[in-house]
Amino acid sequence: MAKIPDDVVKRVIDLSRIEDVVGEFVDLRKAGVNLTGLCPFHDDKTDGNFIVRPSTLSYDRPGRNSYRCFVCDAKGGPVQFLMNHERLSFPDAIRWLGKKYNEPVDDIPLNYTPPPPRPKPAPLPVLEIPRAYVRRTMEIAAERTVVFVYWLRGLPWDEEQKARLQQTLWMYCVGGWRDGRVVFWQIDHQGVPRAAKLMRYLANGHRKKDEHPGWIYNQDGCRQQLEPDKHEIIKPLFGSHLLRAYPKAVVNIVESEKTAIIMANYYGDFDSQIWLACGGLKHLQLDSLQPLIDQGRTVWLWPDKDGREQWQEVCDKLGYDKCRVYTHFFDTCWREEDGDKADVADIAIRMMRTGDKPRKEEPKHEPVKVGDIIAHIVDDGQPFLDQDEMADPRVRMWRDTLRQRYNFNKTRNGGTIQTD
Ligand SMILES: [Zn+2]
Repeated sequence: MAKIPDDVVKRVIDLSRIEDVVGEFVDLRKAGVNLTGLCPFHDDKTDGNFIVRPSTLSYDRPGRNSYRCFVCDAKGGPVQFLMNHERLSFPDAIRWLGKKYNEPVDDIPLNYTPPPPRPKPAPLPVLEIPRAYVRRTMEIAAERTVVFVYWLRGLPWDEEQKARLQQTLWMYCVGGWRDGRVVFWQIDHQGVPRAAKLMRYLANGHRKKDEHPGWIYNQDGCRQQLEPDKHEIIKPLFGSHLLRAYPKAVVNIVESEKTAIIMANYYGDFDSQIWLACGGLKHLQLDSLQPLIDQGRTVWLWPDKDGREQWQEVCDKLGYDKCRVYTHFFDTCWREEDGDKADVADIAIRMMRTGDKPRKEEPKHEPVKVGDIIAHIVDDGQPFLDQDEMADPRVRMWRDTLRQRYNFNKTRNGGTIQTD
């Protein structure tokens, strides 16, 4: 077999980039100036041991354009990688690289069959968080000072509200962490704990803004972070587990867990309304609302003052006729002193202090369809309206007005109502 000329070998090696070559077989990610991935030469579970020093490093950097595993001590450049990983002879490794970099080597065909692509591992199953774990955090909340709970107890509740506060906390399974953070469990509508959000509150009831919430996800051991592309992460609306217990209740959705708990305790009466939280203005997602639609629930969205348009948009996209953005509370209870950043819970707390009460929304009648009334009026010999409709004074008034204005001589279908 003819030897590949030395100058061709040198040219091919000069063109070869270790990151391309290894990258054909190993998923690499950046780690500082280097790249890392799982070592293909031993059964590697954690990346960080297998390092690729890319060709883009300056020429004087040691190990440039090479790979090295600190566990199994595999190392070398692009040619060695192909010889070791693909079990190619030296000339075939040069031919492989020549083909990759469009550099003619010789006319001997490359004796190489690429390995089949490695199957991606199936995502890990969705696991339940053991209920005992939820209970343990609730015990911690009872044993230790959880700042959020402490602050909540100090709000100016009236006697009834104060009496039911503990029950409200239990209903939401509010837990505590040893470091004083509150644990908001996200339990799905079938009662399965799926995730938890750990938040640090200050004694004034505000969240410590510079500390991101911690998460507990649905997996064994509960505490490791999951990778979204490997695991299915389910984050139900906070309070979803109450859906099953209160099948007839209107479902009110607010932004924050804190607001949901406060409003739930403020109103009580879970049989007629329950409070769920999506976790933030931008977290109201169509798919998290799906279980509510499946159950045919009446859903009222209670956005913060600055979130109305955005939630109206979600509501419109949802196209579910039993869902609406509810602003009556805000419109009738908000005062200048509450400020533009106030959410409904802030207003409720202020009303507790001042003794104000929320005004009940006037019940809305189903709109009367004018066309139906006209049909009744022009259908001679038919009863105008049935008894129930006649009971509505507005309908009686409309009918009388229509009778006066409607031109009975026009054809039934072409008639128009004259307006002033
Ligand atoms: Zn290795």
